[in-house]
Amino acid sequence: VGPFVARRLIAWLEDPPPVPDIADLRRDFMTMTEARQILAGTDDLEHLKGDLQMHSVWSDGAATIEELAEAGAARGYEYIAVTDHSVGLKIAGGLSGEELEQQLREIDKVNASFQAEGRGLRVLKSIEMNLTPEGVGDMDGDVLAPLDLVLGAFHSKLRKKDDQTERYVAALQNPDIHVLAHPRGRIYNFRAGLWADWSKVFRVAAENDKAVEIDAFPDRQDLDVGLLELVRDSGARVSIGTDSHYSEQLGYVEIGVASAVAAGIPRSKILNFMSRQELLAWSRGRAGED
Ligand SMILES: [Zn+2]
Repeated sequence: VGPFVARRLIAWLEDPPPVPDIADLRRDFMTMTEARQILAGTDDLEHLKGDLQMHSVWSDGAATIEELAEAGAARGYEYIAVTDHSVGLKIAGGLSGEELEQQLREIDKVNASFQAEGRGLRVLKSIEMNLTPEGVGDMDGDVLAPLDLVLGAFHSKLRKKDDQTERYVAALQNPDIHVLAHPRGRIYNFRAGLWADWSKVFRVAAENDKAVEIDAFPDRQDLDVGLLELVRDSGARVSIGTDSHYSEQLGYVEIGVASAVAAGIPRSKILNFMSRQELLAWSRGRAGED
């Protein structure tokens, strides 16, 4: 650096300026460095079986299903869930029932070619279904029936300031969904997300045997470690999804796993440590098939 900047730097080092408080909109986010420190020396990533939220070119993602499958296989996964948006989220290219059917045929093809090559990974048929603030989904039950896993997520009225416990209770009692995705809807430095009686929400999740999601995308990270400690106490299941829109983003899973580890969530409560058969047995209430 030149002499002017050097003088400023030395002055700051000798007499450090006060560090401002972290603004609420940027609080309680884990950095990748912190995540890696938490995971160093653990074998959690080795035992992780898959990633349960990502988007493909069928909605607002940039990767094809085959590219996502290859990226999952490169990470040693047994499965990935492709969770494109449902019809109600037009802005993100949400799929109609008909488009979803076409997508499922493409997933069948990718899975058949992986199987023919003797490779272990399978793509799970899934969706991120848009929920109304009343907790109602926008896809019919018969359209959802062939899916392995249904995520439900709120995308509207996410700036409400009053208590939103009721919408969560309604969503968790919706028989169509298995996972409540990005529960708060917060985004780093942009939106604080919703507020609720979280202990009650997670208790309702546990009672209904639903999972609540750690959205591991760095600027989302809901749930964060503090809320995950409440999830741990409730006994509810946890799902980890990177919310990837590019293949490379599958690496964000480290933030999700580290958050679960930091909160002391046992592996037995995390869907992503289940084998594919165990996961399907849970989600479909039947023995998984290959
Ligand atoms: Zn979403």
